Amino acid sequence: MLYSKASFDANQWNDWRFHMENLIRTKDQLAKWIEVTADEEGAIEAIADNYLWMITPYYASLMDKHNIHCPIRRQAIPHLDEMRNKSAGDIDPVGDTLNMKTRRVIHKYPNRVVMLVSDTCPVYCRHCTRKFHTTDVRGTYFKEGFDRSYDSDFAYIRSHPEIDDVLLTGGDPLFLSDGKLEHIIRTLREIPHISIIRIGTRYPVFLPQRITEEFCSMLSRYHPIWVSTHFNHPVEITDEAAAACDRLLRHGIPVQNQTVLLKSVNDDVEVMRSLVKALVGIRVRPYYLYHCDNVTGVSHFSTRPCWQRGSGLKERSPFVLNGTL
Ligand code: SF4
Repeated sequence: MLYSKASFDANQWNDWRFHMENLIRTKDQLAKWIEVTADEEGAIEAIADNYLWMITPYYASLMDKHNIHCPIRRQAIPHLDEMRNKSAGDIDPVGDTLNMKTRRVIHKYPNRVVMLVSDTCPVYCRHCTRKFHTTDVRGTYFKEGFDRSYDSDFAYIRSHPEIDDVLLTGGDPLFLSDGKLEHIIRTLREIPHISIIRIGTRYPVFLPQRITEEFCSMLSRYHPIWVSTHFNHPVEITDEAAAACDRLLRHGIPVQNQTVLLKSVNDDVEVMRSLVKALVGIRVRPYYLYHCDNVTGVSHFSTRPCWQRGSGLKERSPFVLNGTL
């Protein structure tokens, strides 16, 4: 009998630490949740020396147990195309390394910076824009451990009064403890010219139990805080995800969503319509939709633009962007 959410005690299931202690990292562990196909098994072996993979039990519980075309499986389980297309694309298509000012600060636009605070995620999206930084076994922009001093990162931001907006991302910032995150946020809040602090996280999608009351309460001490998350398919909008977003919203933290257009995941008008309606239903703003970046190992997710596919959309929608922050 394959595992499902019902296989677990509610106290276990609702405790995010249980999921982090039981991350799925092997084919045998995955086979407890779904019927792993020969292609998936082959891909897991083929990527082993190149790319990491890891899945929370919660996210595995959303997978179709028998259908390899499941949008959750496609986002989280390695695919042979990651290796077949390894010569295509760029390991840094959005120019992070060109605009890296310190170990963690990327300053690409005048008033805003990205601060990379992690290179780890609880699930490694196969389509990650920063695949080199997060998933590539030889990658990471940090070069050495990510827990080194933040002094030079904060000093750079302090010395640039034109910066008023900081996006904490990675990897996933919520991989850090609440205490470490609070230290980072408090230090930023003490810089007079910083107005907006945003957190980019896929925990509402991968492990919504991590969005605890205590975490939300901590964030609410440092307003204005915004959360940007990344739902790609309506299957991801579960009761747990809705409750996590509600906790953030009740603490005054606006939640907006960025969706990546992914071949055979959500490149379908009805899927996208359902996703947007479901997001609005849980009061998460569908903020933007962007094309998959031209990342090495990711090209199998690329879609042709909708205006070339006869989707019924005659013109390029301004809602569909290229690139990411
Ligand atoms: S959660 Fe974000 S940073 Fe992490 S693997 Fe997915 S897209 Fe990349």
